[in-house]
Amino acid sequence: MSDVSNQAKPQIYLDHAATTPVDPIVLERMIPYFGSTFGNPSSWHGYGRAALHAVDAARDKIASLIGAKPAEIYFTSCGTESDNWALRGAVRQSNKPVKHIVTTAIEHPAILDTCSDLEKQGVEVTYVGVDNSGIVSVDAIKEAIKSNTAIVSVMTANNEIGSIQPIAEIGDYCRDEGIYFHTDAVQAAESENLNVNDLNVDMLSLSAHKFHGPKGIGILYIRSGVKLGRIITGGHQERGQRAGTTNTPLIVGMAEALAIAVEKREEYVMRISKLRDYFIDRALSEVPYSRLNGGRIKRLPNNANLSFEYIEGESLLMMLDNKGIAVSSGSACASGSLEPSHVILALKVPPEIAHGSVRFSLGRDTKKEEIDYVIDALKASVERLRVISPLFNVEKGTGHYV
Ligand SMILES: *Cc1c(COP(=O)(O)O)cnc(C)c1O
Repeated sequence: MSDVSNQAKPQIYLDHAATTPVDPIVLERMIPYFGSTFGNPSSWHGYGRAALHAVDAARDKIASLIGAKPAEIYFTSCGTESDNWALRGAVRQSNKPVKHIVTTAIEHPAILDTCSDLEKQGVEVTYVGVDNSGIVSVDAIKEAIKSNTAIVSVMTANNEIGSIQPIAEIGDYCRDEGIYFHTDAVQAAESENLNVNDLNVDMLSLSAHKFHGPKGIGILYIRSGVKLGRIITGGHQERGQRAGTTNTPLIVGMAEALAIAVEKREEYVMRISKLRDYFIDRALSEVPYSRLNGGRIKRLPNNANLSFEYIEGESLLMMLDNKGIAVSSGSACASGSLEPSHVILALKVPPEIAHGSVRFSLGRDTKKEEIDYVIDALKASVERLRVISPLFNVEKGTGHYV
């Protein structure tokens, strides 16, 4: 498979951190709830009861999969809403005159943009940095906590570089200090232990479309006793805490998707981490001036984020897309602007090299032949881009930044 250009264009999806396809079993489980079992779970008649029965079963299943009680599971529209609710709710319930949030510099925009919005309303936010592996230190979090801290929010695993954070240790400290602790676990569902008691969390966000469930449905786990109040007002759904007609089909699908993810976890982690390591090893040894962003341990098994010096990540993304390969440069939200990713910059990678970063996120069904094809395409594309790059001298085989 060395001559990529003479082959029919394949379709290789290496952007599972952005979203995943719905598992066919999940789709099948959802279909009846778009059709015959369409009732509103809040209705008192038989149609409603049938739908409510399915929602209750899904809630029970999800609760048992993460070690929670069913009454601690709240259905939301997405991971972004769950993150908003955790932060905005915790800040609002705090009785301190000036409220303070501790978070990290590498959170998803669902957290960071919410924090900056809250800052405009007078809330103080401390953004704790990370080491060059993209991991936050427990001590740095402890030092950032103040007497007016309303909530600490640290993601379980990063969406761009896959770094896995010391959640259980941070949670242990927050519990002793009596401070609410939230984790955005949206990227972690397929590979990490999500048991809320092992993680010592008070709140945890999930989103179904990141683990082969449907888009538009998420979870906020809220430990009993934690008071957040409502951010979406209206009807009495979700025990009066989150209004809006209950989305039966998507909830049923999400529960099924989470059950499958947990069931396949061990096998998935073993297979995908090996394949990912194979990809990283080949890319680093076969593509000159390439580097891995983030560390090799405490990293999601499907994530490889690489920088290719003297070229732009966006140009490489387009070239790979041309060859039928779907990847991402930085986060979806960072692309579209020319700012390098805040996550890669937080690793102290120089901005010019951060510009050449590309995220490859493998999935449950990624095959070795696909990785081999991607390596060939990558080598050819990087070489081609360097030929036209003003920063690279092909004769000398080296480049320099101006
Ligand atoms: C995708 C993602 C979100 C947002 O979830 P949506 O359901 O798409 O709103 C939040 N946090 C992380 C870490 C994510 O990867």
